[in-house]
Amino acid sequence: MEYDLLLKGCRVIDPTNKHNGKLDVAICGDKIGLVAPEMDPGSARKILDVSASWAIPGVVEMHMHTSKRHRGENAHRMLARAGVCTAVDTGGPWDEFLEYSKTQGAGLNVGCLQQVRDGLTVASKDPTRAELRELRDKSMQDGALGLKLLGGHYPLTPDASRRVIEVANETKVYIMFHSGSTVTGSNIEGFRESVDLAQGLRLHIPHVNSYCRGQRERSLDEITEALNLLERNRNLVSESYLATINGTSGGCIDGMPESKATQQCLALAGYEPTEAGLEQAILNGYARVNVGLGGENINMTGPEAVRHWRNRGTMTSVNFPVNTAESRLLCAVMKDASGEFIIPAFASDGGAHPRNVSVRGAMALVKTECLTPEEMVLKLSTNPARMLGCFGKGHLSAGADADITGIDPATGEPVYSIVGGKLVLWHGAIVGSGTTIVTTELGEARVLAEGLPVQKVDVAKTMLYRP
Ligand SMILES: [Zn+2]
Repeated sequence: MEYDLLLKGCRVIDPTNKHNGKLDVAICGDKIGLVAPEMDPGSARKILDVSASWAIPGVVEMHMHTSKRHRGENAHRMLARAGVCTAVDTGGPWDEFLEYSKTQGAGLNVGCLQQVRDGLTVASKDPTRAELRELRDKSMQDGALGLKLLGGHYPLTPDASRRVIEVANETKVYIMFHSGSTVTGSNIEGFRESVDLAQGLRLHIPHVNSYCRGQRERSLDEITEALNLLERNRNLVSESYLATINGTSGGCIDGMPESKATQQCLALAGYEPTEAGLEQAILNGYARVNVGLGGENINMTGPEAVRHWRNRGTMTSVNFPVNTAESRLLCAVMKDASGEFIIPAFASDGGAHPRNVSVRGAMALVKTECLTPEEMVLKLSTNPARMLGCFGKGHLSAGADADITGIDPATGEPVYSIVGGKLVLWHGAIVGSGTTIVTTELGEARVLAEGLPVQKVDVAKTMLYRP
């Protein structure tokens, strides 16, 4: 028989190949064999009846978290259930990322950016160039795709932040900067500063919606400014998410939340930016504690949530409903003069955070005709695949990676997924296992030595370093 697997009766949406209609998808090993109408059922070893579903190129998620602090033991399953096929842990830390990739795999491809954090991967808030080069080289040899600046949570000085971007650009490793420094915050001022710090260099600024929560000006004015800055500064790439809740640390040291973003969220709603203020916010339902339940993380509030938070010595993640509708919507739909999306991709910033809503949220925008189905696919798969340098993903051409996300158009929920020709999600249940690490030439040997299969990318060819 010619094919291993045949998906029959779905509506295939693949803007790269101009497909939007009822077609069958034939898979051969881990690649797409053929997409064509009414294929012969006798041509494949196994048939999947997926009629009435939408089949799109597998979702590529450029921003998620699997660390222990965020209860990352559940992240792979939460991503798989959300229809994600490939994802990047933007911050690691690498050792925790690797541990969960080995033990908690759900059949996904995942890569990792190593965090630049004082006291953890660098010695101070003002690390030297030599120290940063050492961190860069070690991270890449371990298997990471690059570095993540956590400015909004654990800021470095502006000079050091600039040095990190320079050191990453030097050897073209991936560089993502959650805006904010020792002199600004995770807000429009931090965003402006990171745009300035990246002048003449390449930089990925994540979750643009999150800097426009109305902390300094009206949310609408902040998001308008952010989109204008992105349109003018083509050295930047970005993504945004659709969830109302953010994700940050509930950890407190000496009576104060360790994360600057947590302090800001408390202040935004009139709470004291202290441990006591956070406790009150959890009791009142404004701060939501991430609690593991039945293999996933959920949001919990009230006295029981305070107990969970205390039982973990406050070192758990919390979510606040702080993303405004105007920032989420404008990031999703705004285009530049040439008709391209200013923000090319959706990225949930989920994983362990219970906000893996990219598919559901994008489908809602399709239903309300804010996005066409093709535009949704661009933002969920085609563009993020280019961001990650996975040129065999993001489309369903013959010979492309057999990564597919299946969506029930009635509910807008992902219902099946296939990664590398293997079923990962089926009727909403996870049937995948194991993990493939997305890494580079530099990290391949180390990852293979850890016993994990690899998928190689060249960061110099990603959207970040496009000519
Ligand atoms: Zn994040």
